Amino acid sequence: MKDKHSLTQSKLVAGIPQACSDELAAVEFLEQQRWGDTPACVKCGSVSVYKMIDAKTGERNRRFLWRCHDCKEQYTVRIGTVYEESRIPLRHWCYAFWRACTSKKGVSALEIKRQCQISYKSALFLMNRIRFAMAPDDYRPMLTGIVECDEVYIGARKPRYKGTSGQGRATSKIPVFVAVERQGELRRRVVADVTAATLHRAIQEEVDGRARIMTDEYPAYRGLRNIREGVHETVCHRTKEFARGDVHVNTAESSHALVKRGIVGIYHNVSREYLHRYLWQFDLLWNNRQLNDGERTQLAILSAEGKRLMYRQPMAS
Ligand SMILES: [Zn+2]
Repeated sequence: MKDKHSLTQSKLVAGIPQACSDELAAVEFLEQQRWGDTPACVKCGSVSVYKMIDAKTGERNRRFLWRCHDCKEQYTVRIGTVYEESRIPLRHWCYAFWRACTSKKGVSALEIKRQCQISYKSALFLMNRIRFAMAPDDYRPMLTGIVECDEVYIGARKPRYKGTSGQGRATSKIPVFVAVERQGELRRRVVADVTAATLHRAIQEEVDGRARIMTDEYPAYRGLRNIREGVHETVCHRTKEFARGDVHVNTAESSHALVKRGIVGIYHNVSREYLHRYLWQFDLLWNNRQLNDGERTQLAILSAEGKRLMYRQPMAS
């Protein structure tokens, strides 16, 4: 993810609504996001480049091509981003990014299908890549200060037909661990199980060793004092104790509630294989809640750059 503070503000943000409805506006919006005032060749980096003009109309080439004076290559703003190799108009990408970043729970492929009037397959392709663009950077600072840790089960599938046994009754509850820095960011991850070994490892990877950790009385959190220096305090939900002074896990729980409602209400169900991508989206929304809608959209669009090569073709989700 790009640095939030490097975002150029108002002028670009104001262009988002137009970019959602007009293809030329969308292309120019994305070009401006990517290159600012110095467009550069995506192949060789040269800044000696020009927009190709259609000889008949005198307007921009219909495919919005650029050409480089140095390497003589032609390219578009799609190259090297999550929208490369897609024929879906960029205005739909802009709209889907906008919707994914401005609703607390995101947006479903079905809704994008209806609103952009594209096929469900295209909408799914688009949303899968947008969520992929929202993946966090490999390097993220450890959480510090007061950090609430909690686990939750997401995506419980209720049996659809009463009386069916075996698979029909199977639930697909997936354990998810969260660590939330009070007044700060959160880190969420799908975990294989909620044993002490797994949760302790997650805590050591996400939380600074000196941070003050708060959890509920779940036994798997015991023993944290032996592996880290920071204080560990617990609230006892069993005895209806939900807060003791500043000791509580309410922030973690409200972040869970948002994900649960989103997965059930918007996406209906999500498989274990793809849940982490939906979590990336929820995390980006939560971690950037202080930005306005336009700035958050801009942040997600900027992080689409350079993600294409790492992308693995999804089945369906
Ligand atoms: Zn070039």
